[in-house]
Amino acid sequence: MSLDNVKIVLVNTTHPGNIGSAARAMKTMGLSRLVLVNPKAFPSPEAVTLASGATDVLDNAVVCSTLENAVADCGLIIGASARVRGVSLPLMEPSECAEAVVAESAGGDVNVAWVFGREDRGLTNDELKLCHGQAHIPSNPEFSSLNLASAVQLFSYELRKAYLQRQQAALVPERRTRDLANSKEMEYFYGHLQKVLGEIDFFKHRNPDKIMAKLRRLYGRVRPDRVELNILRGILSETQAALGRQPSGGRKQTSTV
Ligand code: SAH
Repeated sequence: MSLDNVKIVLVNTTHPGNIGSAARAMKTMGLSRLVLVNPKAFPSPEAVTLASGATDVLDNAVVCSTLENAVADCGLIIGASARVRGVSLPLMEPSECAEAVVAESAGGDVNVAWVFGREDRGLTNDELKLCHGQAHIPSNPEFSSLNLASAVQLFSYELRKAYLQRQQAALVPERRTRDLANSKEMEYFYGHLQKVLGEIDFFKHRNPDKIMAKLRRLYGRVRPDRVELNILRGILSETQAALGRQPSGGRKQTSTV
């Protein structure tokens, strides 16, 4: 899993310093694919200065003449817009977009483009039409426009958070799998559980098979690990011990498992 198939696309950028700052913002968050659509000045020493060491991102930047070309190989395209436009695109918050981008790109087979507009006018409605979603940072409505590279930084950060979270989530089942109780242990547990439920007269008029099928489904969903299963079995054993200690009216402990 990586962010290698995520492109940051800057459309018609005027100030080369913003391209350099965007490259720096990307690299700090682990992004490397920069695409420049018709930049006013590139390559440029100002971009190199503001990239502050992220020159590899600039060196590998791809320059295209149109946004159509830049996103031609992409399966998911999101346009970042300072103003909420009347175009009929789903409006998404940065974190929401980041989760969608990471989910789409996780398999490695979908290229994703995150598109940023011009400093003075943003993206045109036609450019937004190429996008599947419109991403908006919920800024001050009376002063809504961030500097281009700041917007790239914020989206890249959200992307990194979503990426790290997904990586972490991917690790959890792996870790758990090693400790999961196996089928034999679960069968002992179910046998023990049914026995104790009988001993406390839980079933009464209920059908034990049906109840046990439901309990199996419940524990099957949870898939307890060995430590958790030991706790459950400990509870059952203690229940049996308590029954055996009951002075009157209680049932004698008939057996332990
Ligand atoms: N004056 C322009 C804003 C340009 S800022 C306008 O009104 O559209 C340059 C780019 O930075 C924008 O096109 C957008 O891609 C991004 N950006 C700036 N502020 C943003 C915000 N609040 N939400 C989403 N993207 C933003």
